[in-house]
Amino acid sequence: MLKLPIYLDNNATTPVDPEVLETMLPYFTEHFGNAASRNHSFGWVAEEAVTLAREQVAQLIHAEPAEIVFTSGATEAINLALKGAYEMYATKGNHMITCLTEHKAVLDTCKHLEKSGAEVTYLPVNSDGTVDLNLLKTAIRPNTILISIMMANNETGVLQPVKAIGALAKAHGILFFTDATQAVGKIPVDVQGDNIDMLCLSAHKIYGPKGTGALYVRRKNPRVRLAAQIDGGGHEKGMRSGTLNVPGIVALGKCCALGMQKMNEESKRISGLRDELEKNLIQLNNINVNGNSTHRLPNVTNLSFAGIPGGRLLTEISRTIAVSSGSACTSANPEPSHVLKAMGVADDVAKSSIRFGLGRFTTGEEIEYTIDTVKKIAADL
Ligand SMILES: *Cc1c(COP(=O)(O)O)cnc(C)c1O
Repeated sequence: MLKLPIYLDNNATTPVDPEVLETMLPYFTEHFGNAASRNHSFGWVAEEAVTLAREQVAQLIHAEPAEIVFTSGATEAINLALKGAYEMYATKGNHMITCLTEHKAVLDTCKHLEKSGAEVTYLPVNSDGTVDLNLLKTAIRPNTILISIMMANNETGVLQPVKAIGALAKAHGILFFTDATQAVGKIPVDVQGDNIDMLCLSAHKIYGPKGTGALYVRRKNPRVRLAAQIDGGGHEKGMRSGTLNVPGIVALGKCCALGMQKMNEESKRISGLRDELEKNLIQLNNINVNGNSTHRLPNVTNLSFAGIPGGRLLTEISRTIAVSSGSACTSANPEPSHVLKAMGVADDVAKSSIRFGLGRFTTGEEIEYTIDTVKKIAADL
């Protein structure tokens, strides 16, 4: 039996996988110890669980366990990476390169750094959402210390050419940070093969709880040093003080282990459903895919419904299907998405764009219902 409403907003957040929940629960109750307590078994048990989680996170991205710093999520990891590098490498330079389609956590952190003296280049993107490597090359200056380009976009799923960016950054001795919050667990991630120096991820985008994430910080070739943004007891090698969120960390580790185990099969199944949804909807007039449809995450499609008023479209779909729109509806007068705008999508088309984000628990039946429902709404409007 089909249960309504249907959740197709897995790029905003995901439900916690029951296996993940089961793994973390004992760390609230019988194993409640502080991982920093060295003198008793309560501490040792917690510490051991954190050690396993660190290995699980590292393994998913081809890093070493010692290169993982646990944080409260991707936003905090991004702040630590960008602000920490800016402070630490101030004598080397003050210039950073990012792009216009990054998540607000990157863009707003860059804005903050500009107020404290940073020079930031915000690269434009091609109409398919990818960055132009030649433009990136010409943006590099002698005082460039860091390039921050995301692995996969949260609105369109478009994948950036991170391998080429990593090689370019390495050749110029510039640090490369990538926001892989949407990518990990969905596509293979390899910080070694791709020359990534820092990378962030978040549990709640990969079937874990909110409020837990990690920053990978390379320890050799080169050894990346960061100025701490939270001072305290010197946890996480002094880079992020504060008592560790043991249940959250245990959950994040389990998410990564499950992600690794399920990735191949799951991405095949989910992209099959996504393609089915997309194929059926773009048969209708004036419905197009926003962004590159080959270099893309397996679970998302962002469709523009040109000619249909965005507000009404979203209202109608939202009666039974949870999706996101191409506008930031935080105000009474919604602004078109900065991502679609940067790709050259007209404001009215951006406002009538919808992101469908499938996930581990999306079923074929739900996709059939979505196809029928959206077709009907599009025809009516
Ligand atoms: C969700 C998201 C973030 C923020 O992650 P939190 O863990 O919620 O702070 C950052 N970047 C991208 C690409 C995201 O999708």
